[in-house]
Amino acid sequence: MNSINTSKIAVLGAGISGNGAAVLAHKLGYDVFVSDSKAIKDIFKQELQALNIAYEEGGHNWDNILDANIVIKSPGIPPTAPIIKAIKEKGITLMGEIEFAYRHKGDSKIIAITGTNGKSTTTKLMGHILQTAGFDVAVVGNIGRSFAEAVANNPAEWYVIEVSSFQLEDIIDFTPEIAIILNITPDHLDRYNYDMAQYVAAKFNITRNQQKQHLLILNKDDQPTQQYLLSHSIHTQIVFFSMNEEIRGSEGAYLHNNSLNIQIGDDPVMLPVDDISIKGKHNQANTMAAAISAKALHIRNEKLRESCATFVGLDHRLTYIATIRGVEYYNDSKATNINSTWYALEAFKKPVVLILGGQDKGNDYGLIEELVAEKVRGIVCLGKSNDKIINYFKG
Ligand code: ADP
Repeated sequence: MNSINTSKIAVLGAGISGNGAAVLAHKLGYDVFVSDSKAIKDIFKQELQALNIAYEEGGHNWDNILDANIVIKSPGIPPTAPIIKAIKEKGITLMGEIEFAYRHKGDSKIIAITGTNGKSTTTKLMGHILQTAGFDVAVVGNIGRSFAEAVANNPAEWYVIEVSSFQLEDIIDFTPEIAIILNITPDHLDRYNYDMAQYVAAKFNITRNQQKQHLLILNKDDQPTQQYLLSHSIHTQIVFFSMNEEIRGSEGAYLHNNSLNIQIGDDPVMLPVDDISIKGKHNQANTMAAAISAKALHIRNEKLRESCATFVGLDHRLTYIATIRGVEYYNDSKATNINSTWYALEAFKKPVVLILGGQDKGNDYGLIEELVAEKVRGIVCLGKSNDKIINYFKG
């Protein structure tokens, strides 16, 4: 990292990614200004103060922002926000933190993971596999630590990055060596004009700059993914995984005889489902996606088996809490859309009391109706959007 820089960077949004971008920009010698329309958390303020980075909170000073050469926007700010429109009109370079970090990562390589559900789990698993195999790896993105902050403070040879559709809206040149789209089911539709095609397109941005030598790992069972492929050309190699279909005659991964079969190169591997530490069908799919990447990187089968057996999953993802008077309690508070709720219900054999609620993002409860009828004995509603849930399930 070098050079004194006279250019000015404005960072919009002082969360994990915004602060990470500010730290990296500061280290690169830019004149940095951070602006948040809401209050900034103390911990982030302290971080900025320690580096003498200028910031404001509770509103944007437009003049200051429009005076910058580059604006880095937080993924939470929609493209329709007035300040974003003004930045674009003025022709200022606008990007997200992922793009900014990408431009300063040097020769490091990237595995980028997106999807509606399973991103954090698969990102952490991928990092664990690479670590077990002796790679120099940083696990970053929406998973606690930003890509930019890692590039600034602890660069690694490999980055495993969890990327959301919002983050993928703001890339320009970002090119992962390996990209994974785990699944695409309706979520965040409020951001995409209730148009699923826009959401799918944002996810597929992950492969936009990939070339022949790169790899795109896709879910063969996922309808929106398959539909997208019918009308769009992809410029890189695609490898599929499937829970429903045996992929023979080409590279890929599939479930067969209670084992995950990963066929990449001339050394296929079988991972018995019972030997995988994280449970549930959804995690078998996540494991296949990570295992394809591992095989593509020539990680030895024995290392892959070891890491899938020793991986400790994340909390709040269908996590067993306790048994009280014969009732088992699970925390699946990260199930924030219908599809993840479907997988949670699918996993239980016993009758379920479901605690449900939160913000409605254009949910279609019809997708879980059958499982609810079969397994749920009662629904407890919490949070903002109860009316829709009550009306749907009453009776
Ligand atoms: P994300 O980072 O995409 O939100 P997480 O790994 O945090 O994904 O998991 C979020 C929720 O989705 C949890 O309830 C988890 O049990 C569920 N989940 C994980 N993987 C999948 C998958 N492949 N398909 C559907 N649901 C999944």
